[in-house]
Amino acid sequence: MRFEILERDGLARVGELEIDGVKHSTPALAFIDSERYPAPKGVLKIEPPSKKGKGDLLIEPSGFSTSHHDGIEADLRPAFRGSPYAAGKYDEYLSCLTETSSMMLDSKKFVDSVSELKSGDRLIKPMYCSVMGLPHRLALLAYCGYDVFDSMPLIMAAEYGNYLTSTGILDYARIKDLPCACPACASEKRGKKELLQHNYTEALNELRLLRHTISEGRMRELVEARIRSDPWLVQNLRLMDLDHYDLQELHTPVKGAPFQAGSKESLSRPDIIRWRKRLEGRYKKPDGAGVLLLIPCSARKPYSKSQSHKRFLQAIWQSGRADTVHEVIVTSPLGLVPRELELFYPAKDYDIPVTGHWDRDEKRMVEEMVSWLVESQRYSLVVSHLGDEREPVNSVLKDFVDTSQGSPGSRESLLRLEETLRDHVPAAKSGGRHSRELADMRSLCRFQFGEAGEGLCDDARIAGRWPNLKILKGETQLGMLTGDRGMVSLTIDGAKVIASSGAYSVEIEDFIPKGNLFAVGIERAGKDIRIGDDVAVAHGKDVRAVGVAQMTPFEMELSKRGEAVRIRHALH
Ligand SMILES: [Zn+2]
Repeated sequence: MRFEILERDGLARVGELEIDGVKHSTPALAFIDSERYPAPKGVLKIEPPSKKGKGDLLIEPSGFSTSHHDGIEADLRPAFRGSPYAAGKYDEYLSCLTETSSMMLDSKKFVDSVSELKSGDRLIKPMYCSVMGLPHRLALLAYCGYDVFDSMPLIMAAEYGNYLTSTGILDYARIKDLPCACPACASEKRGKKELLQHNYTEALNELRLLRHTISEGRMRELVEARIRSDPWLVQNLRLMDLDHYDLQELHTPVKGAPFQAGSKESLSRPDIIRWRKRLEGRYKKPDGAGVLLLIPCSARKPYSKSQSHKRFLQAIWQSGRADTVHEVIVTSPLGLVPRELELFYPAKDYDIPVTGHWDRDEKRMVEEMVSWLVESQRYSLVVSHLGDEREPVNSVLKDFVDTSQGSPGSRESLLRLEETLRDHVPAAKSGGRHSRELADMRSLCRFQFGEAGEGLCDDARIAGRWPNLKILKGETQLGMLTGDRGMVSLTIDGAKVIASSGAYSVEIEDFIPKGNLFAVGIERAGKDIRIGDDVAVAHGKDVRAVGVAQMTPFEMELSKRGEAVRIRHALH
């Protein structure tokens, strides 16, 4: 058996499972095949060793089924609640969840087991889930990293008269007009056989959707939608966020797909929490930006392209104090976005429903972040120019000027903002635009690479037109901020600077990468690396290439196959 992970989205992945030369795309269904419940043609089948055919997944029924294969059937009848498969016997090639029935009653146990199955070398094995994979649960289960599901719950549902859909379970007997056009539903017949065929089709369709969604990097949104009909699923997602943020964050790309933050759970997405934690852990305001100006977000992103922000920028510019003003955008669910980070994912990639009302969780989050900002960054003046978010923010500010009076876009407010800045802020002494541009870039590099990022801006200058800005030292280019990526892409010279502090580095055997770097050549990978990060590829002190990480650092070290770093530049 061979398993290769082809695409990743958090813990979810699209893979290829090859058994005896027969290939299957995962997430996949593995069908039980018995006389009473024959598997469809051409699918992945589960068989015991005695019956195994070419390409079948080999699993032996456990002791609490009978030793004979047909013993499985006894476990498929109504009222059976466990897994018919032996525990721990397949660890060599499959990562198996056991005691599934107790996990259906205990979400804490379920999420803890996910964390366990994703540790050590089990991370790169296919993860097998029996009994739980109903169509409406598949999204959450795949989000937690499961790759293969058995058909048992589909069979059991048919025995119970349960008509399965991707959003929940319906009573087959009560549906007048079947909401499906699969061959079984389209036939005039209604029986267990047709119901089972429908349940199979529904699960297979959902798995197709999951593979597409993983490939698009939008699993989190789908999961937030799919969990609504089943409290067990909601519990699982919330507990994954509360108890296993670190595991999820490790697998969350630094540059993901745009998303809708439309549910309560969106507030605790790992990429959102990482944004807030990274601000608190890494962030330093740009040098010389002594005046904090708090402004509202805009629906259009990046914010500075919106009409409202163009007016704010004009007022700031006309005050003649632009170089000393630090604009920070107040927004949910990110909390705060310093202007110089507005291109960095997910600051320009989220959408929220706007009602003008902030709920209690959002208010508390913003209060905490504003308090952190003013206490840690030490401004000489704080100006609040806010709308709906004015009340919670102003309530935690001590010394400040309110220039918006609640309507930040009005002519009077904009004029008040301009005058306040001119009257309260002394004109900048030296440096001006160029040194502020460099200070903004330094802040961004620090946010992206940690302290090592600051080295990129020592004695450097900035060239180009926002959002495409180059970092130059003398005539040597170290990196470039680009508008679409929203972060700095390094040259080999830039990678040397980062690697000199040991940050964001992948250690390879003694060769020069040609094309992309595969996991097999990697000896060690820095634990600060996330998928989507720029990394230095080095042998000892010798930086040989730079590129974008495609795997987590643990996977880079464990895997024997797969693209680990997409190389941008390599030594010749
Ligand atoms: Zn159907």
